[in-house]
Amino acid sequence: MDVLLVGDEPPGGLTAAARRIENLPWLPGPLSGRDFQSLLSLRLAEAGIEPFNDGIRDVRRDGACFVVTAGRFGEISCRALILACGTEPAACSLPGLAEATLSGRIHRDIRSLPESLAGERVIVVGGGEAAADSALGAQDRGGRVAMFVRKDRLTVRPGLAEELGRSAVEFGFGYEPRLVSASAGGLAMEMMSASGLRRVEGGHLLLCLGRRPRLDLYWKLGRGVRPGRIDTVIPGLFLAGDILRERDRYIEPAMDDGMLAGSEAGRHLMRRRIS
Ligand SMILES: Cc1cc2nc3c(=O)[nH]c(=O)nc-3n(C[C@H](O)[C@H](O)[C@H](O)COP(=O)(O)OP(=O)(O)OC[C@H]3O[C@@H](n4cnc5c(N)ncnc54)[C@H](O)[C@@H]3O)c2cc1C
Repeated sequence: MDVLLVGDEPPGGLTAAARRIENLPWLPGPLSGRDFQSLLSLRLAEAGIEPFNDGIRDVRRDGACFVVTAGRFGEISCRALILACGTEPAACSLPGLAEATLSGRIHRDIRSLPESLAGERVIVVGGGEAAADSALGAQDRGGRVAMFVRKDRLTVRPGLAEELGRSAVEFGFGYEPRLVSASAGGLAMEMMSASGLRRVEGGHLLLCLGRRPRLDLYWKLGRGVRPGRIDTVIPGLFLAGDILRERDRYIEPAMDDGMLAGSEAGRHLMRRRIS
């Protein structure tokens, strides 16, 4: 098959946010998300696949073909299309968030946080694995991290909870956050809890409040049918990875999907005797 890989970030996408990947049994040991991405790029090069860095803005069908519109490369036609668009941050109801985002101090994952935080205060809101992993990651970058959780406990695997417990990350449970102000100079928040109101100031706010499948391109083709499987109602259109999952999103199943979607795409082309 003549394969074209197009993505608006380096191959590996969200894995760059991972502090330490240790749940892939075929890796010789734990790897940072960025090192994992280098490994992926190496494998792609070995397979002779050159990734094109571009954003796909639109997709339509043209007979048995799909035509995708990329930002820089214009229209690209293909006979089989695999959408592996991953996820995007879930909508967040924090009042004032949209305007505050312009300050550059609000982040939806750790990738946009400065590399060196040099003692700056980082406020993490969220209590799941991404929040815990990112709190430790921000601390690695030199930040003083405070983590505020809406529930009364963390929802993380035991090893991560223990590591957090040993770290200097501060915790607060049962808090409802409110953004007071955010500017290029820093931000202020009010954290409400049963025991009262606490004012917190910081350099950066990291909101880890869940992600949802990024389905914008799929909906342009999918005729209102919710996706649930690698193959779709449209012949030649396949899905792979986190785009398919509401929960339990991990690298291994995403890679398995990719392999199966590639095989299905090959079968589709062979059935139609096309290459
Ligand atoms: C903090 C954190 C830590 C994690 N740690 C682990 C871990 O240790 N182990 C583990 O197994 N999993 C971990 N994960 C989960 C893992 O990152 C994901 O399950 C995995 O990245 C999913 O891969 P994917 O290819 O489906 O989606 P993604 O990695 O999200 O990749 C999708 C890519 O498609 C791009 N894209 C989307 N739409 C378009 C478009 N229109 N045009 C061009 N490009 C587009 C996106 O920008 C992105 O680069 C972690 C996640 C987070 C947030």
